[in-house]
Amino acid sequence: MTRDVPFDWLWTNAKLATFDSRVEAPFGLRDGWALAVCGDTISAVLPSDAREVLEFHGEVIDCQGRLVTPGLIDCHTHLVFGGSRAIDWEMRLSGVPYTEIAKRGGGILSTVRATRALSEEELLASALPRLHALAAEGVTCVEVKSGYGLTLADELKMLRVAQRLSEQVPIEISPTLLAAHAVPPEFAGRTDDYVSLIANEIIPAAASANLAEAVDVFCESIAFSVEQCDRIFAAARKHHLGIKGHVEQLSNSHGAELVARHCGWSADHLEYIDDAGVNAMARSDSVAVLLPGAFYFLREKQKPPVEKLRAAGVPMAVASDLNPGTSPFASIRLAVNMACVLFGLTPEEALTGTTRAAAKALGRASRLGTIETGKQADFLVWDATHPAEIVCQLGVNPLRERVFRGKSTHART
Ligand SMILES: [Zn+2]
Repeated sequence: MTRDVPFDWLWTNAKLATFDSRVEAPFGLRDGWALAVCGDTISAVLPSDAREVLEFHGEVIDCQGRLVTPGLIDCHTHLVFGGSRAIDWEMRLSGVPYTEIAKRGGGILSTVRATRALSEEELLASALPRLHALAAEGVTCVEVKSGYGLTLADELKMLRVAQRLSEQVPIEISPTLLAAHAVPPEFAGRTDDYVSLIANEIIPAAASANLAEAVDVFCESIAFSVEQCDRIFAAARKHHLGIKGHVEQLSNSHGAELVARHCGWSADHLEYIDDAGVNAMARSDSVAVLLPGAFYFLREKQKPPVEKLRAAGVPMAVASDLNPGTSPFASIRLAVNMACVLFGLTPEEALTGTTRAAAKALGRASRLGTIETGKQADFLVWDATHPAEIVCQLGVNPLRERVFRGKSTHART
């Protein structure tokens, strides 16, 4: 009898790393299990010898013991941008600090000039190879920030590009408005006026056009103060947008506490977060997004307090921070590897950081990030038998099959 079986497809004989916190095994592992898909949804997760599996006569994919994980989620990127910052990097290597490059009008503002000069089509074309690189590694959902336009028109242009990326590549995009990334040159010395523009015009326009899900800020001595970020977050909440913050990257500005006070989705970077910040995040259930790529490229010495975040029970995500200046690489697997080697996360923590915790950092915990009945059918079949293999070995792509919303989008024969 097969008429009651709610499956279109079955992946059997899999080693499922579910990342389901209710499964009491490392990585939520279920060895020798099957995964059923109906439409774009996981309709069952069950042992391969279950009656429903044995009696199913539809399309079956035998995983032959291979590892299956949820689709990877890169929850912090700036992958839409114009130009290159290789010259910044060259300067930094010769000893010019990040803050000094920013003060000289380099850094973010040089990318702003290059991004403003490009049309929507040109920006889209330049972003696609980066997105393809992430998708080829198994990323099925990616957050994309604006923040290199810094005018109403240019911020909306970037967000439209972010939206159009998902028409070109089978991937889910989570668009974030980051108008408070830097003070644009035309507002030099008038930061409060620019904050007013963000709060009164850019946020309402992005919200009414449905171009952003969240609002982000760069809360730092070289960017925006806690008070200015507070005004921006208040405007974001008025328009029912999620809250995120680049905080405590170069110094402790107490931005994480501000994010927590606004019940933010995530506070990101956190190298200089103190105990009060950690405790505030634990109380608010905001996700700590760790970005080891920026730490590596900036050759920073101060690491985020992983042991304290772990002890306080703050969920930790890991992301590429893909951007032209401080983290110029399109590889979530490299970010996960760096989180282990540089920050001391376990492979299980780092992979949780690109699945379950990353989904939470994008307000998608109920729909993405784990292999569970009812979740969106985004998952990956790997030429691997243990999850640590996909973190440890770089330079070779062990991805065998990528399934996005129930459809196979990349298959190795
Ligand atoms: Zn960033």
